[in-house]
This record gives sequence, C-alpha cells and structure tokens, in this order.
Amino acid sequence: MNRIYYTKPSITELEVSYATDAARNGWGENCYGYINRFEEAFKSHLGVKYAIATSSCTGALHMGMAALGIGPGDEVIMADTNWIATTSPIVHLGATPVFVDILPDSWCLDPDLVEAAITPKTKAIVAVHLYGNLCEMDRLLAIGNKNGIPVIEDAAEAIGSVYHGKRAGSMGRFGTFSFHGTKTLTTGEGGMFVTSDTDLYEKVLTLSNHGRARNQTKQFWPDMVGFKYKMSNIQAAIGCAQMERIDELVSRKREIFGYYRDAFESLAVVKINPEPAGTVNGAWMPTVVFAERSGVTRELLQDIFAAEHIDARVFFYPLSLLPMFEDQPNNKYSRDIPCRAMNLPSYHEITRQQQESVIGVILTLIKLKSR
Ligand SMILES: *Cc1c(COP(=O)(O)O)cnc(C)c1O
Repeated sequence: MNRIYYTKPSITELEVSYATDAARNGWGENCYGYINRFEEAFKSHLGVKYAIATSSCTGALHMGMAALGIGPGDEVIMADTNWIATTSPIVHLGATPVFVDILPDSWCLDPDLVEAAITPKTKAIVAVHLYGNLCEMDRLLAIGNKNGIPVIEDAAEAIGSVYHGKRAGSMGRFGTFSFHGTKTLTTGEGGMFVTSDTDLYEKVLTLSNHGRARNQTKQFWPDMVGFKYKMSNIQAAIGCAQMERIDELVSRKREIFGYYRDAFESLAVVKINPEPAGTVNGAWMPTVVFAERSGVTRELLQDIFAAEHIDARVFFYPLSLLPMFEDQPNNKYSRDIPCRAMNLPSYHEITRQQQESVIGVILTLIKLKSR
C-alpha cells in the first residue's frame, strides 16, 4: 500500500558521506570536529553569539532553565497547547508549569493571559512557536522586561521562522531547538541551546560538561553537579550536512505548506497556519482547523485518513487535561481547537499527487458534512 508519511527526514549522499567520515575518522583528537562545526554553522544561521549542541531539545531546556535558577516553588508560564517536552524540565526542577490559553489564530500563548498569570513566584515565560507559527514576541518581551522575567524561546518547531527580521530562537534570553527525526532539520535525535548572553552561556557550558568549569585544570574534578546531554560527533556530522542544505530544507517545507494553503484558501470553514505581515512561517507542520459549523471532527478526520493510508496526526491535546497536571477549564481555545484539527503530511519528498490525495480527502469530508 502506498502510505503517505507524516514526516520523514530528507537525507542525501551528503549526510551519508559526513556521517561515514565521522564514523571512520572522528575519534581521538577529531572527536569534537563535527560538533564544533555544527555549532558554528548554527550560530551564524541564527544570528546568535553562542550555541551548544545537545542530545535533545528537552535537555537544552533543562540546562537553560537550571542555569536561570528555576527551582522548587517557582512558576513558569507557558501555553496549554504544547508537546510535554517543554514542561518536563520545569517539573524535574521542582517548579510548577502554569498553563495559559492560546490565541485562536496562531495557536500560541496569549500575551494578555501571560501578563495576568504573573505572580511573585513567576521565574520565566516560555514562548513555544507552535508548528512554526510565531508567538507575539514584541509583546512577550515587553511583558518580560517590565516584570524582570526572562522569556525563553522553545523554537523546536520553528527553524526557518522569522519574526520581523529576527529568527525564531534568537530573541529570548535563550532559545532551544530539536533535531528529532520528525523535525525540519534532523540528526536523528539531537538539540541545540542558543543564547547571546555570555554569563548564561558560561553557566550552561559548565552544566553541560558534568559541572566541570572550562578553566578547571584538575582532571576529573567537577565544580558542581551538572548534566550529561551531549550530542555525538556522528550526529553532528549529519547536522553539518543538513545545515549546508538548510535553505533548501526550509523552502521545500514552505512550498508544501503553500500548496495546502492555496487549496484551502477559498474555504471559509478551514483555517491553516497563519503568516502575519512581517513574518515568515518555517512551515514545520501544516495544520488545518475546521470551523465548528463544518461538522468536521478530529475523530472523523482520523478515521478517513486512516482508511486512505494517510499518516495525519492529531493537534496537541491541552497539557492541562493530562492526569499529572491541574485542569484549566477556562482555557477555551486549547480545549476546543484540537477537537476539530489535524496535522497534515509534509515530509520533504511528498509528491504533488500525494498532497492532492490529502486535499481530496478533506474536500470530500467537507462536502459530505455540508449536505
Ligand atoms: C519536538 C519538540 C521538543 C522536544 O524535542 P526533543 O529533541 O525530542 O527533546 C520540545 N519542544 C517542542 C515544542 C517540540 O516540538
């Protein structure tokens, strides 16, 4: 059966040749060669001063939050609509995530609700650029500044997204990225911590090396308890190849997104990821949300896509509905939108014909329900 995948990395001979070289030669004095190169390439792409490659975005968040001093009794404000990866480090540090509702068009956190949620315990605000859609960074940074609270950018889904000339991940106190196999740029598993704050960088660098300060001359002598979230040289080799192709990887994602957007443009009952003036959506995940009056539901979409062997995925459930967190019944949009929404297949090698099949399924469903 001709299955239409949801995501799948774009791997060429370049990635294979770099990974092969790393496996063959990247040992001994060369063991950090690709890691350093990957960090340099990423820094210059993003326009930040410092980058530390990690084993995951979750690890990058964990270290960055620890370096900010987030701990027991603190609160961290974030959107209710999110993958749990952003939340776990907050919980591991003993702090409490505070889930605010999202905006109905960008599906990212609502700045007014962020402001209202601030208490004396608030230690950070996490801006997650959901599916490549950008948070209202000007407002969030202003709120952060006014209250002396750092804004963290989880840009795991937003490589290629640009907010008024600044790349997603480069605007907050620190930013994080994921190179998981489902993301636009991949190393299999992997992540990146980025910042332009020298003190914060030094702290995270020490934490990332099991607490060994870089000026510590004594061997096997950690100065504090740190973390071990390092990326391997072989993963970084794949990352270097992907960075050489970053413009191609993002523009292909945008092309796929544009094709879906055009197909649904004339339909009043379907909304797709927004791209407000002055911004570029990196288009990691084309996502459609249906109007309530369309009668289209998540369950109908799941059934029909499954029947057509199309690997579409559900919109994130609100974190506040998970059993380990406190329910937030007032979060209207984070609870409502996932009931009528779906992520569409968007892997780099998807064909026009396959996109037509996906579009066809949706058009048929809308017609069926409007009868
Ligand atoms: C994928 C993702 C992560 C987790 O990335 P890992 O590299 O798997 O740790 C974190 N936050 C968001 C928003 C993500 O989409």
